[in-house]
Formats: sequence, structure tokens, C-alpha cells
Amino acid sequence: MSSRAAADLPSVWHREAAVPATRWGDGARPSRCDLAIVGGGLMAAWLAYHASARADGRWTITVLSDRPLAHGASGRNAGFVLGGTSELYATLVGQLGRPVARELLALSQSNRQHVRTVLGPDGERAEYRETGSLYLGAPDEGETLANTVRWLVEDGVAAESWMPGRVPSSLRSLGLPHAAFFPEDGAVQPVHLVAKLVRQAGRAGVQWYTGARVTAWTVQDGAGIRLTVGGDHVWAERVVLCTNAWLGQLVPALAPVVRPTRGQVLATGPVALDYPYPVYADHGYLYWRPRPDGSLVLGGRRQLDPETEATDALALNPRIQDALTALATRLAGGTVAVTDRWAGIMGFTPDHLPLVGPVAPGLWVAGGFSGHGVAMTGAVGDLLAQHLLSAAPLPQSLNPARFYAPA
Ligand SMILES: Cc1cc2nc3c(=O)[nH]c(=O)nc-3n(C[C@H](O)[C@H](O)[C@H](O)COP(=O)(O)OP(=O)(O)OC[C@H]3O[C@@H](n4cnc5c(N)ncnc54)[C@H](O)[C@@H]3O)c2cc1C
Repeated sequence: MSSRAAADLPSVWHREAAVPATRWGDGARPSRCDLAIVGGGLMAAWLAYHASARADGRWTITVLSDRPLAHGASGRNAGFVLGGTSELYATLVGQLGRPVARELLALSQSNRQHVRTVLGPDGERAEYRETGSLYLGAPDEGETLANTVRWLVEDGVAAESWMPGRVPSSLRSLGLPHAAFFPEDGAVQPVHLVAKLVRQAGRAGVQWYTGARVTAWTVQDGAGIRLTVGGDHVWAERVVLCTNAWLGQLVPALAPVVRPTRGQVLATGPVALDYPYPVYADHGYLYWRPRPDGSLVLGGRRQLDPETEATDALALNPRIQDALTALATRLAGGTVAVTDRWAGIMGFTPDHLPLVGPVAPGLWVAGGFSGHGVAMTGAVGDLLAQHLLSAAPLPQSLNPARFYAPA
């Protein structure tokens, strides 16, 4: 397999769903708004959705995205809607203490509620299913996984340690001896989710633009923020940068904090798997999910080539793709047809938690979701909307100031 370059790497989700928007320059361009959101993924979409609902017509909201909507990580992920953060709960507790870990856990619980609410009767079309998820731990993850289950249950979240006999037989020989099941988890078709949010927010008056690359921002004393979009300017009372892996391009002080990291994924034709739920495994380096049509989406293994994958260049990594193909074959118990291969760019922070908060007067960031944004952006969008509209506090644990002192 040879590596292919950028533009021709749509995901299976892109092939099956599209998100319409107006191209910057087609028709009138707004020069002023109450809220400008920069980005075109789940974070931008959730913030636009929540802010437009809460502002109830009082604010003009403009979303500016350089690429088509959902063409960043949000249209290239595996669509797992998990609980907590990208760390197992016991790791998070060790990192931040139980009260803060609980606060972040509650965020992901409310995220799931938001997904349910916004999809409503479209849930089936968007493949949203709360099947639970299985975690298969490496030999050194036994204690962390056991503590994760114990502490989640103590904190009111369903979680089960599974003895090997309970694990589907096809998964018992993978060298991943520890298993835990999280019954509240699920998965979604992520481009459908973005499309639904864009439609809903569009009905509430949000204007969406693609081909609108923001190259600079300037704080204008008493007049908000001036954004440069091509040869144009947009003045906004307040701006939220939802550019995830690319935050460092617009806030250079964040470039060493949010590291672009590439992930490889493939999709197969129908295979007969004897379980309906997504599986996450091996320190989070491996994940796959059976889809309702019997096909499989599988990704990860970036630890095979971490230097090459530390990039924001959208390309296939043949070595990792070959390893994923081999695993798909093993999971399927025979040859599989690979229908789609793609890559996506995540934004990783040093503590694997996103940055959500102010970085300059009138300018906020919400990004660096460290491979877990499907599970958090719905709740973060709601918190941010409440913060912008009524000064509600944001979680201190996510404040960008933990890595960077705002000017
Ligand atoms: C392979 C892979 C698998 C994943 N699997 C999962 C999973 O199963 N579950 C989970 O919870 N998370 C998963 N994630 C992570 C999840 O996809 C992200 O955390 C989430 O999509 C982040 O959303 P976002 O809107 O912040 O970022 P993105 O979707 O990356 O959006 C950022 C947007 O900013 C735009 N942009 C950048 N710079 C500019 C600029 N200067 N001007 C205008 N626009 C700009 C980009 O075009 C892009 O649209 C995965 C990610 C990848 C790559």
C-alpha cells in the first residue's frame, strides 16, 4: 500500500453524510457579529448550537471554518461516546484527585445527555446506540482497570469487571487479559451528529461559512476582536477559537501545549462479529466498533510509529495501516475487504485534558481534546455558552492558564 496525500482521504462517515454550508465569498459576508466561532468541527458546532439556543435571538453568531465542516478530527474519528476523559478513571483520579475527577466525569455524563437530546428521533439514522463499551487492558493495566471500575461505581456510574469467560471468545487471544464493561457508553456516526447540530443552529440563525480561514486576530479596545479572513475583516464582540490541533497557529504560545497527533483508521465490509459494542484496548492505543450493517471501523496503533504520526499532515501511514488490516483480519477470523482508509489529526495536551477558557480579553479557546472530543464537546459547548451569556464559571481544571499566562 502506498501513502496517499491530503485531500483524497475522506472517511467512511464523509462518504455517507455531508454537512452543507455557505462558502466564504459566495454572497454577502458578515462584517460584524456578537459571537464568532472559529472552527468547523464538533466543538464549533456544539457551541453554536448551545449559544444560539441560550441567546434566543439576542446574538448574531458566525462560524468560520477553513475546510468543509466536519473535515477535521470530527469527521475522521471512531465516534465512541465514552465516559470520563481519555484516561481511565483511576488514572484521572491519581492525576487530579477525586473531586476534580468527579467533576470531569459529570461533564461526560451530561455530554451523553446532550447527544441524546440533539439527535432525538434521528438517533437511529445517526447510528447512535448506547450499547456499552468494552475495555481490554494490557497485562500492566490490571490494577488501574480494577480501581477504575470500583471508583466509578462508588461515584454512581455503571461499570463491571469481566472475568475472561465473559469476554467474547474471538477476543480472548489478543494478549489483553483484563476486561471491564461500561454499560452507559455508546457510539455515533460523527458526521451525522455535526450535520444535525449545524441544521439546528442554522434554524436558530447561526451563519456557517467554509473556505473562511482566519489568519489573525487583534483585540480592538472597546470594539471586541477583529478577525482577518482572507482579505476581509470580521469584528466580533467575542471570539472562541475551536481549532483543536491547530490552536497553536492562532495562539503561538499554545503551540508547545497542543501537539497535533495523527491517528490512522480503516473501515471494512461486513464481517460477522459476535458482539455489538465498541471496544477500546491497550492503553487506549487500539479501538474498533461493529456497525449496525455488520461492517467494522478500526483504528489506533500509532505507538508503532510515533515520530511520523506527530504531525498535522493528513496522510496514510502504510506501516500502521498494514497493522490495522492484520488486526481486522484476525478479528473477522478471515480475509476482510477494506472499503475505506483515512487519517485524522488530534490535538494532545500534556495532561490529556482540553483547554477551555480565556486567552485574551474577548478571546477564548476550546480545544486540545486529546482524542476524546466526541465524549466532551457537547458538555463543554453548553458550559461555554452559559459562561459567555451569563458569566457562569468554567472548570478550573480545564483553564488554559494551567499552561499559559494570558496577556
Ligand atoms: C482517528 C481519530 C479517532 C478518534 N476517535 C474518537 C472517539 O472515538 N471518541 C472521541 O471522543 N474522540 C475521538 N477522537 C477525537 C475527536 O474526534 C476530537 O477530539 C474532536 O473531533 C475535536 O473536535 P474539534 O471541533 O475540537 O476539532 P476538529 O474537528 O479537528 O475541528 C477543528 C476545526 O478547525 C478548523 N480550523 C483550523 N484552523 C482554522 C483557521 N485558522 N481558520 C478557520 N478554521 C480553522 C479545521 O478546519 C477544523 O474543522 C478521534 C480523533 C481522531 C483523529
